[in-house]
Amino acid sequence: MYSSQYQHIKFKIKLGFCFAIFVILSATAYQIYTIWRDNLRVESLEISHNVRIANILVEDALIDGSKLLDIAKLDLRAGKTQIKLTNQEIGQSLGKTVEKFQVSSWFNVYGNLLFVDADGNILANTDGPLKRKINVADRYYFQALKERGKEEIVISPEVTAKSNGRKVFHLASSIVNDKGEFIGLLVIQVNSKKFKDDLVTTLTDGYETMGLYLANGKPIFSLGDQDHGVSEASIAGIKSRDIPGRTILLPSNEAFGFGQIVASSENSKFGAYMIGEATTRKVWTQTFSSGLKFLLLVFFSCLLVGYFAYQLLKSIAKIEAENHLAIHDALTHLPNRRYFDEMFPKIQGDCRRSRKPLSALFIDIDKFKDFNDLHGHECGDKVLRVVANSILRIRKRPLDFFCRYGGEEFIFVLPDTDQQGAMHYAQEILETVSAQEIEVNDGVMVHVTVSIGIATDPDGSQNLSDDLIKKADSAMYKAKQSGRNRYECF
Ligand code: GH3
Ligand code: MG
Ligand code: MG
Repeated sequence: MYSSQYQHIKFKIKLGFCFAIFVILSATAYQIYTIWRDNLRVESLEISHNVRIANILVEDALIDGSKLLDIAKLDLRAGKTQIKLTNQEIGQSLGKTVEKFQVSSWFNVYGNLLFVDADGNILANTDGPLKRKINVADRYYFQALKERGKEEIVISPEVTAKSNGRKVFHLASSIVNDKGEFIGLLVIQVNSKKFKDDLVTTLTDGYETMGLYLANGKPIFSLGDQDHGVSEASIAGIKSRDIPGRTILLPSNEAFGFGQIVASSENSKFGAYMIGEATTRKVWTQTFSSGLKFLLLVFFSCLLVGYFAYQLLKSIAKIEAENHLAIHDALTHLPNRRYFDEMFPKIQGDCRRSRKPLSALFIDIDKFKDFNDLHGHECGDKVLRVVANSILRIRKRPLDFFCRYGGEEFIFVLPDTDQQGAMHYAQEILETVSAQEIEVNDGVMVHVTVSIGIATDPDGSQNLSDDLIKKADSAMYKAKQSGRNRYECF
């Protein structure tokens, strides 16, 4: 009963400790989230800035390319409705067009302008000798333009050129005769590596986190090396006009596999988009370095809270131990007389209220003085401990109260037990104690016996708590007189 009030305080301390740690950890989590979000925002701003510039550059280039194709087409026709020129004439025409096209376009620098007939024969080009035929079957733009039968410009995805193994992409425009029949096409073959390098030098750092794709879902190419760029798989999942801020899964991303669209733009003519991918790993690295001090602070806060909680619990444990000592016997660790005086009226009150019988056993070791004299006081102490323990083990219900009442006297208080039940208990105690072998000095084995006095209050009508104990005591005295190692009822 002394410990229960501390149990409550200890529980409160532990609860408080858990709550404090919970608050600290929640604050930490929130703080780290805030740092992470701010870092992501900064990173996103930087990337979206680059993306916007890249979009402008790419759109300009595509527009320039389309202008070049238009001019070449006009020059080839030169007022005629049907193109019937020699290869040489076509070649001269293409050369003139490129010369005339003085815009500082990348295609002007890196592009090879070709004129191809309906069967895929290259009739003329501006870069190198004529010796090839385009395999029309594997050219996406060729089939697309032939089938559509009207003049428009198509951009192909990046492919590896068979002739030189370079990465290229194409801008192609069909040419139809006055009957609307497809008679050939003009193609600008762009060395995409040069194109990308030029784009990258124009941009500040961060380019590796971007990819470029067409509005029809087909990527032209991605910036950065293939492993780090935005993969085709992720691009395929992006629909045109996806809003910036949408998180996309990037299977090739070695960070955490997630990126964010930070900017996108659509060219009215080609529908080309640039998207940016904020690498999560970079953001986490930054978050960790700026959150490190905070984490240290959190660590020490937890340590401090833990230390105070530990000290508090330790003080309470000390008080508990002191209280335990005050009401327990140091030799047998049984409740002592003081504890008995406190508990007995309560037990008796409970029995009286519920009109239940109450029995008390007064237990006294027989001829203990002689034992002390014969074997010494220390052996006597040992016997007291052993007897106390063996009687304690007989206790059957938690409410049965067993204590050391005096020198070699014990009291067993049995609530809700009538005289018959008490006699049962007494008999068991007599048998247990007398059967107990106790080793004293030098392996000498001894036996002791006890005498027991039983007093029972059948319905709680007894008033004085002392009465029952006095009656049990005098019954015990009777047992002594009748020869010891027995019980007597009052
Ligand atoms: P009886 O059968 O009539 O009870 O004989 P007894 O010798 O047990 O009776 P008495 O009350 O005369 O003796 C009790 C003895 O118990 C006296 C005392 O020396 C001894 N005693 C009391 N407390 C302790 C203790 O803590 N340790 C030891 N070793 N002996 C104790
Ligand atoms: Mg005695
Ligand atoms: Mg005795």
